[in-house]
Amino acid sequence: MSKARQPSNSWRALVIPSVVAALTLVVVGGFLFRLSNEKAAASAVKPQLPPTAVYWNQSPLYPNTFAPLPLGSIKPRGWLKRQLEIQASGLSGHLDEFWPDLRDSGWIGGSGESWERGPYFLDGLVPLAYTLDDPRLIAKVKKWIEWTIQHQRADGRIGAELGRGQYRTVDQESDTWWPNMIMLKVLTQYQEATGDPRVIPLMEKYFDYQMKLLDQAPLREWAEHRWADEVLTLIWLYNRTGNARALELARALHKQAFDWKANFADFKNTQKTLKGTETLHSHGVNNAMAIKTSAVWWQVSGDPTDREAIHQLYDRLDHYHGQVTGVHSCDEHLAGLDPTQGTELCTVVEAMYSLEESLAILGEPALGDRLERITFNALPATFKKDMWAHQYDQQVNQVMCSVLERNWTDNGPDSNIFGLEPNFGCCTSNMHQGWPKFASHLWMATREHGLAAIAYAPSQVSAEVAKGTKVTIVEDTDYPFRNRIRLTVYPASPAKFPLSLRVPGWAEGATITVQGQREPAVKAGAFHSVEREWQSGDVVELTFPMNVRVTRWYHDGLAIGRGPLIFSLALGEDWRQVRGEAPHADWEVHPTTPWNYALVIDPEKPEQSLAVEESAVGDPPFSPESAPLRLRAKGRRVPEWMLVMGSAGPLPMSPVLTQEPEEDLTLIPYGCTNLRVTIFPQAAPVGAKHRSRGGALPSRRQRAQAFRKSGGGSQP
Ligand SMILES: [Zn+2]
Repeated sequence: MSKARQPSNSWRALVIPSVVAALTLVVVGGFLFRLSNEKAAASAVKPQLPPTAVYWNQSPLYPNTFAPLPLGSIKPRGWLKRQLEIQASGLSGHLDEFWPDLRDSGWIGGSGESWERGPYFLDGLVPLAYTLDDPRLIAKVKKWIEWTIQHQRADGRIGAELGRGQYRTVDQESDTWWPNMIMLKVLTQYQEATGDPRVIPLMEKYFDYQMKLLDQAPLREWAEHRWADEVLTLIWLYNRTGNARALELARALHKQAFDWKANFADFKNTQKTLKGTETLHSHGVNNAMAIKTSAVWWQVSGDPTDREAIHQLYDRLDHYHGQVTGVHSCDEHLAGLDPTQGTELCTVVEAMYSLEESLAILGEPALGDRLERITFNALPATFKKDMWAHQYDQQVNQVMCSVLERNWTDNGPDSNIFGLEPNFGCCTSNMHQGWPKFASHLWMATREHGLAAIAYAPSQVSAEVAKGTKVTIVEDTDYPFRNRIRLTVYPASPAKFPLSLRVPGWAEGATITVQGQREPAVKAGAFHSVEREWQSGDVVELTFPMNVRVTRWYHDGLAIGRGPLIFSLALGEDWRQVRGEAPHADWEVHPTTPWNYALVIDPEKPEQSLAVEESAVGDPPFSPESAPLRLRAKGRRVPEWMLVMGSAGPLPMSPVLTQEPEEDLTLIPYGCTNLRVTIFPQAAPVGAKHRSRGGALPSRRQRAQAFRKSGGGSQP
């Protein structure tokens, strides 16, 4: 691919729009600033125009539903901005300064770790830096990118010298395919944010080199299972250059790749993985990355069974390993339904990225429901709230975080403590992509030259609509803690284009108003399109009713949900520093209050026994002390439910008999907790003598069927 079809044209295509955009920005900027002064409600609007254009799938690729906007088009506001600032002030903004695996990385010419950890770090640092427009982080990014670009070998190879590295001996090309896949994803984001004209020629030269070597150094191990990540970059490149060799390489990779579609069509991993039976397709992170694989490949194959395969995948993963957070258990390998099994942090962020990419391709709103469920619950819960420490494994019922052998498939005793590198350093390097990629995928372009709201959080998007009109949309909201979202639309001049708004599957009775006029036929679990000629300052208001919902899980235990949030009993916490130096020390967290409660609740009328209290969104947005929502509930202790191997013992079957007195309980959002009970036994009515199968709530099998129909996003 060294002979790009139109290198000079593609350079101009990328750079000239940036210049034009920058000039336009000045004019539009003044206009918007005046408007925002007039409208006190909309806080200061700082228009940011995308540095590069939107690129759609080109023939012969099959058409994606939405196109992600170039990195830098979406800026966080409100609590999301604060969350990203906390991340930048924590490990993500400092890890490379002291962690040997980054400080001495072979990806900047050092003699240290030279495999996946440098690229992993950049895969989160690049979107964090350009989403926040943080000069300090951008300077860090450039050091790594410059090294990679300037050290491409004459034959096209990129990355560290072969034979270097502490963890992994990078001594054969096959071992380099996987870390290079991550760096290629990094380069796509960097190019979108900067328009750097050196990126595309580097990629074409690298892909030529890989094509020549692929037969003698085939995909194996990680690369064989994670190949779709490279296909994403090949499609990105093809859409910009039209060079057919990118698709030839994609097909060559596919021939050597693990067949995830067949894996889920005949799914064998139906139990918690036993020691000695682990494979790369029982590996939790690989499964999270596989979520997108068939959708990504459908763009090349056009095979309808590839397009549909994500439903079968989620049917199997949910049925055998699903957790209430929307992400599967894996304490290294798939670990079953017990809420004390772990879920690795890499799995959380990779599942999010898979959903962001799959939703762009397939356009299915339920994938957005699941993306929000993981992002607002599993992601914040697994970090120390200042983001200076993280867990390797989180538990849905997590009553003690300590160095102790637990019932993991094969993770170590420090896997659920909060620290710098608990269990293993993959999450330490890979965790950074979670929040910034969520921010950069909140909005996407539609084929009708409009914009789609993919997921909701306070933000501001700037893009071209209606074949060339610049528009900025300001999204003011405290969602997911509140149920109202206000969009203010600022086109540079009046323009007709559609706004496609995702209405979550749980939001029955949702309303949308445009300039105070109620939209007809708003349906839950669909994109609702509003098409009109937009004037500057037009306001769209969305209200998503957030009724408390109860769903049934492992051992018929109950989970409480409201909107995209799940609620947990937060425990009193005793933090004990066990290793390392603050602020990046390792911490155990021990409970100081009881946790073994059964809920006293009528699952069919939960509103009768749960009261909702709102308070201001705190700083940090997710913490037990400043939780923006509290549910007041009733429970009774279950004395025989006790600690076993440092975890909550086997969950009693519901309903459970208990003679203990009724107590007031306070539940807070799962993402705000460090220690918690989330799946509760249901207390049998007072006076009941025999355990009975309780209530009319759907069984696990019925839930799985509902999940299939909904595309996987509507519970709890
Ligand atoms: Zn990991």
